[in-house]
Amino acid sequence: MEELTRRVRTFAEERDWQQFHTPKNLAMALTGEVGELVAELQWLTPEQSASVMSDPDSGARIKAEIGDVMIYLTRLADVLGIDLMEAALTKLADSALRYPVEQARGSAAKR
Ligand SMILES: [Mg+2]
Repeated sequence: MEELTRRVRTFAEERDWQQFHTPKNLAMALTGEVGELVAELQWLTPEQSASVMSDPDSGARIKAEIGDVMIYLTRLADVLGIDLMEAALTKLADSALRYPVEQARGSAAKR
């Protein structure tokens, strides 16, 4: 995670793109990339979406968009001074408390 953060930061610095990497712009870019990911899946049936990676072309596009999302999320967290891994692990721990296995297993109900 730290290596990715460093490499994305260096990529931006080498191009003097830090000036464009405001939290607002990065959040918007992230949203755009999530939209591109969703666009790859939006007209598929649930069954087609579940097997999308078995088609090499579709799989490559999904993988590329996942990569874009990860890059912008990583960069946004870096600019905001957020430890992305720590933030995710904290949220996962919160969710584990909110959705105890014995109450939540097999249920999609929101709490
Ligand atoms: Mg993209």
